[in-house]
Amino acid sequence: MDKVVTLGEILVEIVSSTVGDGFRETVPMTGPYPSGAPAIFIDQVAKLGQPCGIIGAVGADDFGWVNLDRLRRDGVDVAAVCVVAGRPTGSAFVRYAPDGSRRFVFNIADSAAGQLSLTSPALQLLDEAAYLHVSGASLFSASVVAVAREAVDRVKANGGLVSFDPNLRAELITEPAFMTAMRELLASSDIALPSREELTPLTGAATPVDAAHRILALGPDIVVVKDGSRGATYYDGTRTLPMDALKVTEVDPTGAGDCFDAAFVTCLVQGASVEDSLAYACAAGARAVTLRGPMEGTSTFAQLDELRTRSRRRAAPEARATLPPLPVTPGGGTTAVCSAHPLVVEAAMREALGRDGSVLIEATCNQVNQYGGYSGMLPSDFVDFVHAIAGRCGFPVERICLGGDHLGPSPWRHLPAAQAMAEAESMVAAFAEAGFHKLHLDASMGCAGEPTYIPGPLAAERAARLAAVAESAPPGQRGPVCYVIGTEVPTPGGAEHRLAGVELTTAARVQQTLEEHRAAFEAAGVARAYDAVVAVVAQPGVEFDDRRVNVYDPGAAVALRGALSGHPGFSFEIHSTDYQPAGSLDALVRDGFRLLKVGPALTYALRQALYGLDRIAGALQPEWAERALLAEVERAMLANPRHWQAHYRGPAAEQAWLRHFSLSDRVRYYWSEPALVAKVDELFALVEGGGCPEPLVREFLPTLAERAAAGQLRLQPRELVLQVVEDVLRTYAQAGLGAS
Ligand code: ATP
Ligand code: MG
Repeated sequence: MDKVVTLGEILVEIVSSTVGDGFRETVPMTGPYPSGAPAIFIDQVAKLGQPCGIIGAVGADDFGWVNLDRLRRDGVDVAAVCVVAGRPTGSAFVRYAPDGSRRFVFNIADSAAGQLSLTSPALQLLDEAAYLHVSGASLFSASVVAVAREAVDRVKANGGLVSFDPNLRAELITEPAFMTAMRELLASSDIALPSREELTPLTGAATPVDAAHRILALGPDIVVVKDGSRGATYYDGTRTLPMDALKVTEVDPTGAGDCFDAAFVTCLVQGASVEDSLAYACAAGARAVTLRGPMEGTSTFAQLDELRTRSRRRAAPEARATLPPLPVTPGGGTTAVCSAHPLVVEAAMREALGRDGSVLIEATCNQVNQYGGYSGMLPSDFVDFVHAIAGRCGFPVERICLGGDHLGPSPWRHLPAAQAMAEAESMVAAFAEAGFHKLHLDASMGCAGEPTYIPGPLAAERAARLAAVAESAPPGQRGPVCYVIGTEVPTPGGAEHRLAGVELTTAARVQQTLEEHRAAFEAAGVARAYDAVVAVVAQPGVEFDDRRVNVYDPGAAVALRGALSGHPGFSFEIHSTDYQPAGSLDALVRDGFRLLKVGPALTYALRQALYGLDRIAGALQPEWAERALLAEVERAMLANPRHWQAHYRGPAAEQAWLRHFSLSDRVRYYWSEPALVAKVDELFALVEGGGCPEPLVREFLPTLAERAAAGQLRLQPRELVLQVVEDVLRTYAQAGLGAS
């Protein structure tokens, strides 16, 4: 009883070699390809060396033989496949439409495939089954449904297990009998293997997590949700295990799900761990899409191992073996914390500590550079600064990744290019030597006498010069470095103008950026540095200005999402993700926009918490004039308007509220002024003595009210402020889990 068995349609697939809308014209076709979801599944099981067999029916024709020959060759027991006289083998004609969807002409229900029955060889096979796999695609007629039910009952009675892939076909969803059979089989299965897009029609749930739990509640012990190029997630009620897809070039997606199912079930039967089973399943799905034809992409373990190491190596080839690992959050994203406020940095470390994670802290070129930038810090000072905070809050230094942002001529763009680039080179050297791990090379801004943005190839050439400097920094002094390229972003420091609609990066632009940089890096003799490029900056439609947020629209970013599919090892880096709702952050990560930078939203949250505390102090102590901190901030901003004046140009009254409450949060430039540092210390000291009474937390820091009431927070000022910032970071850490 160690066989994996399946039942259902065995078909040939005949594929149009041109893209278009259906078949109402003469088109060139290729085929016949062996096909049918159960047949693909079982062929994949056989290729993994597992004893297996299929119950099915073909006609006495070449379309039948082409299938039987293939299945036999690959090791499938076909003794339970009937050769039906007088019926042709089932077939499916397929043509890809321009939007990637498929148009079919089927001949299945009236073909031999519709004649499925449990003959004595079929019953014998079922009695040898450790697993029976059923595909929802097979439930196309009442008689096949009856056969499937009987088979399931028999295998379960024998102590075997059942795996079920709904493989929902759009045209069957509206048939109540079909959906009933579908739900019944789902409920009697032990492993459910749905695709993400099937979850809502199957369960009515709005999120994958919710849907998975609803399915678990029906009966299955395991649910694995397949999500195409975004990988798959395993759920068993106690554990959620997301697995990234391998980076491959998709040629033909048909069969990926069946190969995935087969590899997952086979690995479990063979005693592999859930992690390994999932990894092999993802590899089987990934390899399947690289080959044209539904069954042509079934794989042996050797082929899967090869793909797994190659793809790991491509993501981290020799030159990349030493790349700094960027922190990955539980949701699969990477959060780049762009702030030099010590409390924000501390909040980031505390949030990461809470989940055993790492942090990525970034400094931008105007803020930190070889002259100190506006923060007064050299790159090495920034490293010391971050490490000192880590020391204070017990965060392991080896879990800190440091990034330099927009490293290029931008701070010196009033100078002629030659001079500005010389400055940029010494800046990059200083970042590299200080041990920064991730360098965003951005030479897109024009210098004196040049247009605001210079042409791509020239920007790439300048970026290559900067890469060459980073690569030649004395290795003793620098750690491993990775790079980010590309620049479809506002100038460092945020959008200078009010939003007027956001222009999305086009897929073509991404290709061009990659190609330009590859060529430029090669020409500059630093091809090695191109191998260390981990991300390309893109604009998927997220932005904010002083008063509005452009929320991510997944539909608009569909083309962009696919732009890196042929570029293993590259991610998208997204700037200005501040203030996106949790659901949008989640969608961004799930859509492959994984590296998310956030800055102003963190200092905004900090400011909000400090102003809340300011009012708490006013309520607690008459001698603390309410809003004393706000008044001090106002003084500092008026005394030195250079960080906000160019940004808030309206009437005086409007400028006044924008100074404090604008989403651009220009206040962040002022917190390090001694008078403000002293005022915040004074505020903390004042509240610290007696702590914050809970009603005041409820009144002035309302997002913390529940936790304060539940006794989950120490009602101390610093603690409360850190919590508010941590809350924002937690939303980022969870983005991608589908929980929002
Ligand atoms: P089918 O169309 O065969 O029914 P499905 O919807 O059941 O497919 P998918 O989610 O498309 O299944 O693919 C199954 C698995 O194969 C995915 O979870 C993923 O691991 C892998 N896979 C699919 N497409 C790709 C891709 N483009 N790149 C990498 N891996 C992929
Ligand atoms: Mg499927």
